[in-house]
Amino acid sequence: MSRKAVFVDRDGTINRDCPYCHDPKDLKIYEDTANILKRYQEEGYLIIIVTNQSGINRGYLSEEEFNRFQKAVLGELDKRGVHVVATYHCPHTPWEGCSCRKPNIGLIEQARKDFDIDLRGSVMIGDNDATDGELAKKLGIKCIILDKNRQGN
Ligand SMILES: [Mg+2]
Repeated sequence: MSRKAVFVDRDGTINRDCPYCHDPKDLKIYEDTANILKRYQEEGYLIIIVTNQSGINRGYLSEEEFNRFQKAVLGELDKRGVHVVATYHCPHTPWEGCSCRKPNIGLIEQARKDFDIDLRGSVMIGDNDATDGELAKKLGIKCIILDKNRQGN
């Protein structure tokens, strides 16, 4: 049976935006987002991170640095009882014309295939109308936009 998912943006949504986050010592988790994710998880939703990381192909951070920061994010979420089942990231710059950079649907399509997700009941959570909001609109799914300028605690 297919399952519902929460597709959640990372920088500015789960953690304070750095920007081009790469150093784990800059990691600050937004507790409100962790709480929202935990509630969805308890209702049976899969938690899946979908994140644009153009800093990789812009040469601002390496895949290794991305992975190291990502590991720290997952560790902090784990401590709060939030278990992310998968992370999909797009390393491309806007001018590469890829199909995975949000608001394109490539990352979600991949997740949908990998986890047999029922998009109809799924939700997008992000901090950016032009990427996360637009992506949700394309998919016809519910979207929660959080204020990236809120306080991390
Ligand atoms: Mg963001």
